[in-house]
Amino acid sequence: MSEATIIATPAGFAKLRRSHRTTLAISVLPDGTLELAAPQAATERALAALVGKRLRWILRQRMAFSEMNRDRVPQRYESGATHRYLGRQYRLKVRRTGPPGVRLFGGYFHVHAPTGSPSEVEELLAGWLRDKAREQFRHRLARWAPWCAARKLPAPRVRLLRMPKRWGSAHRDGRICLNPDLVKAPSICIDYVIAHEVCHLQHPQHDRAFFKLLDQVVPAWRTIKARLEQLP
Ligand SMILES: [Zn+2]
Repeated sequence: MSEATIIATPAGFAKLRRSHRTTLAISVLPDGTLELAAPQAATERALAALVGKRLRWILRQRMAFSEMNRDRVPQRYESGATHRYLGRQYRLKVRRTGPPGVRLFGGYFHVHAPTGSPSEVEELLAGWLRDKAREQFRHRLARWAPWCAARKLPAPRVRLLRMPKRWGSAHRDGRICLNPDLVKAPSICIDYVIAHEVCHLQHPQHDRAFFKLLDQVVPAWRTIKARLEQLP
């Protein structure tokens, strides 16, 4: 891919990248920015005309994103605030006593934070969630080891990786990168993302063979994926 340039379109300015693709791909980012991935040869005028034909769709995407952003409440880190783990919401109970740490019991996150400041609570909770993410993902991925061995695929192993737009990625050597935020989703969603990435060890692309395999291992994946996409 080449460097991005900015071009004027009927939907406003758009970031344009050129590549060896043969068709134009339009995406609207959550902040409303328009991104175009276009063939090398397409003129800016032709691209602007194509964008013009998709105006209604672009407008709908932007409206949907602005509604989502309006509903998004910033996370709070004080007693009473709710946070997610494995698809359920728990309230925080912040105490300034005891050694610093987080424990989950009785339907609450009990956070012991010496200063009780929101930034300290945030750091403690993030650390706890990261540990749980590693534990949950390892445990769930381990179930796939015999499946991979039977197919002569490398043994899958997990790595936590923050990715802005995706839940996971797979690498030929068996590495499965998973977004630690996934641990906030219901376990059925976590298992789906893991199955999806494990299928990529066999078929790296989203081709027919990939989806055929995914249909076999998680027949209801479309429903589960839709649920994952609804999460805040
Ligand atoms: Zn994929």
